[in-house]
Amino acid sequence: MKLNTENLTLLAIVVGIAFGVALPELALQQEIIGSLFLALLKMLIIPLIFASIFMAIVGIGGVNELKGVGTRAFTYYFSTTALAVLLGVIIVNIINPGAGGSIEVAVGSAPEIKEFSVSDFILSFVPTNIIASLSNGSVIQVIFFTVLFAVATLHMPEERQLPLKEFFNSLNDAMMVLAKWVIKLSPIGVFSLISYVVAEKGLESLIPLWEYAITVVLALLLHGSITLPAILYFVTKTSPLQYFAQVQKAVVLAFSTASSSATLPVSIEVSQERGGVSRKSAGFILPLGATVNMDGTALYESIAVIFIANLAGIDLTLWQQILIFMTATLASVGAAGIPGAGIVMMVIVLETVGLPVEYISVILVVDRILDMFRTATNVWGDLVGAKVLDR
Ligand code: ASP
Repeated sequence: MKLNTENLTLLAIVVGIAFGVALPELALQQEIIGSLFLALLKMLIIPLIFASIFMAIVGIGGVNELKGVGTRAFTYYFSTTALAVLLGVIIVNIINPGAGGSIEVAVGSAPEIKEFSVSDFILSFVPTNIIASLSNGSVIQVIFFTVLFAVATLHMPEERQLPLKEFFNSLNDAMMVLAKWVIKLSPIGVFSLISYVVAEKGLESLIPLWEYAITVVLALLLHGSITLPAILYFVTKTSPLQYFAQVQKAVVLAFSTASSSATLPVSIEVSQERGGVSRKSAGFILPLGATVNMDGTALYESIAVIFIANLAGIDLTLWQQILIFMTATLASVGAAGIPGAGIVMMVIVLETVGLPVEYISVILVVDRILDMFRTATNVWGDLVGAKVLDR
């Protein structure tokens, strides 16, 4: 086995888990290393999104072309997310974790979460002050602004467009060089992040909820290893295994950080440099996908909600299952690409379906570990999307 960054990063997962189990005290003390690595990744996100979306839109060439790409992107996002939820609902109905009071759990109090409002949700896409959005790292607002800004640029005479194109082109390239440097640190960063999570959460937290955890992981694996590769293969005739090998660094990082946003610089880098995705597609589809397209989160929401219904001894009607299907899809769109975002959105699903929100406290115990699996699926879904839409 070659000792390149990729293999070392994979090794870091295994060694990190072992270290977290064997020496939890030490693993907790070295948190700073993982935090530093995460900070470096996050440092890249905003300038990179700004530059890459600008260059992508300018490269796409016009409003009509943009409409075409946008429509195809959303069709891909929506259909893969719907397939993921459907798979989640089927698997959870087969395994039926928590049914018939098979799990003894203590229900705590409902987590404090702000009421969800549709108008706030819609308004949250539009920045009132773009400098504030840039400095808060509000990804979706930066995307919204940059798309409009780039389209406006295309409406100017050619010679006025040039300075902006030159500037963003160079900014983009410089950010990619920085991304490559940070990626070189992945083995250490991943080792630190994983061993910390294992030491902090303890793998034993999975034991009482093992049936539920296995249901989630199994469904995520099926989606990631069958549904998405099948779409990739049928649309692009690319070998899914080969493509996965090319971009796996991003998937591993998504797993370790549990954040699609923090992984974004790496997804953009590997998909272009190794996966053969064009800059236009990677620059537009990946940032958008990192916040909107979350197959893993949607799948997880549907399983978690049905599991909670089982725990609470509530038989779901067909209408409630359909509602779960719709709200889980929407909740995954609304979830930010940060750790634990999915569980916050789950309140909405539970409330819409009329299930007890307090039960979230039960699954919160294992949420971080499952978050790693669903984020890896989210990012793999984005990477497949970039390749598919590149066609
Ligand atoms: N952590 C996930 C992500 O960044 C979102 C979630 O909590 O489901 O993709």
